[in-house]
Amino acid sequence: MSFKSQIIHIGSLSMGGELPVRVQSMTNTDTLDTDASVRQCIRIIEAGGELVRLTAQGVREAENLANIKKELRKAGFVTPLCADIHFNPAAAEVAARLVEKVRINPGNYADKRASFIRQELIESEYRGEIERIRERLLPLIKICTANGTAVRIGVNHGSLSDRIMTRYGNTPEGMAVSAIEFLKIFRGEGFNNLVVSMKSSDTRIMVESNRILVRMLTEEGMHYPIHLGITEAGEGEDGRIISAAGIGTLLAEGIGDTIRVSLTEAPEKEIPVAREIIRSIAGTSGRMKEPCPPLQYRRTKDRYIPQIFSEHDGIFRDEQGEIYRDEVLTVNARELTGCNESQKIGGVLNPVFNEDDFGKLCIHAASLLGRFFIARLPAGLCITNKGKVQGEVLRNLAFSILQATEARITRTRYISCPTCGRTKFNLEEAVRRLKAATAHLTGMKIAVMGCVVNGPGEMAGADYGYVGAAEGKVHIYRGTEAVMKNVPEAEALDRLLELIKSDQAKR
Ligand code: SF4
Repeated sequence: MSFKSQIIHIGSLSMGGELPVRVQSMTNTDTLDTDASVRQCIRIIEAGGELVRLTAQGVREAENLANIKKELRKAGFVTPLCADIHFNPAAAEVAARLVEKVRINPGNYADKRASFIRQELIESEYRGEIERIRERLLPLIKICTANGTAVRIGVNHGSLSDRIMTRYGNTPEGMAVSAIEFLKIFRGEGFNNLVVSMKSSDTRIMVESNRILVRMLTEEGMHYPIHLGITEAGEGEDGRIISAAGIGTLLAEGIGDTIRVSLTEAPEKEIPVAREIIRSIAGTSGRMKEPCPPLQYRRTKDRYIPQIFSEHDGIFRDEQGEIYRDEVLTVNARELTGCNESQKIGGVLNPVFNEDDFGKLCIHAASLLGRFFIARLPAGLCITNKGKVQGEVLRNLAFSILQATEARITRTRYISCPTCGRTKFNLEEAVRRLKAATAHLTGMKIAVMGCVVNGPGEMAGADYGYVGAAEGKVHIYRGTEAVMKNVPEAEALDRLLELIKSDQAKR
């Protein structure tokens, strides 16, 4: 289902409609540190960021957005700013007077942190809850209306309210309903300067929730622009590949008006990745002209285990090195987004690229191929490249794409947040050390999250979590339970490894 959004205005930036897909990022400085935040905003803007988000965890941080904005304007930058709000309507109400956009999370704006306790409500109680949320939102709506401030309703998988989780579970449908509840309240008050997002660290959940959202928006006659992103994508090549697979799938379907690639790296590094994803799908126009129909998920009784092949001079070899002579669909990679024939893919998919730069090849391949493997269609993948990147790296890239779409897991799975002003430890370093120590744990999902406010919810589905607590302290999680609290950072990795070892010994 293709979706045509309406155009909205966020300060000097317009988005939606036929406009190019916009690129944005978020600072990870302390929002109270004006100089550091301004410098980082400038780096993001100079890299090509068209909107910059900053965390405003409290009223003081929200107030300091005024100083950051003033310094940016003084330096000649008119790029709009967005305040990121969780659990704190008072901070939202301050920020909405100062910056061009406020992002709120329906899972925690009017509701406390999910307790994962079932909250069964009869219909009248449910309506009462919606009325309570409406009353909580009214002051913000009035301020945004008076100041021309835009609002993003930003839903994250893993931070849904108990009310939603009881009715729908922690599901793509629950995510979409959570957004629609809020959108209806804003629309009911005549406020339409809205953007909406459904994010998850799981590409399939992110894709599915956005498709459901589009269906529900269409049914409701709503056309708000959609912001796309994979949360906690991690760093390096893996972070780029998983982001490209999820975002590229939806852009190819004509869904998405703005994107953010969340990497556990300096935020300005996210911008070229986001640009490259858009370019892979939409070329230089920045917007897909003829969207592809969504590929239907293939359901079979057999376990889906796509195989990886290598190709040399037209000879295909399987994972054992044997010559393979069965069905192979060889297609110029540029034609993958226009390839309706691809609906019929059931054999080995053999896209042919022409790329000299490995980083770009990763992004192009994941952007274009993700949707086939999210739909579980091809029986295998063989990446051919006519450019300089050759050999084993092409096979590894193919395995990475299968891992990113969870079509076939052959490595440890990591999720790590991009960090923000709430992070109180060196998360990049922690991720590096943790990866080095746990690379052998194939299939295990380990999360490294910057804060206990959002981290535990958003690392949904992780087997273990390493979550920043107070300054220099870490909570260690098994599933959703914090089993060790306030472990000094220097000891935290060893304690986590001991926990994993002892759990494995008991199995
Ligand atoms: S989980 Fe990470 S990015 Fe999200 S709020 Fe916490 S520190 Fe910030």
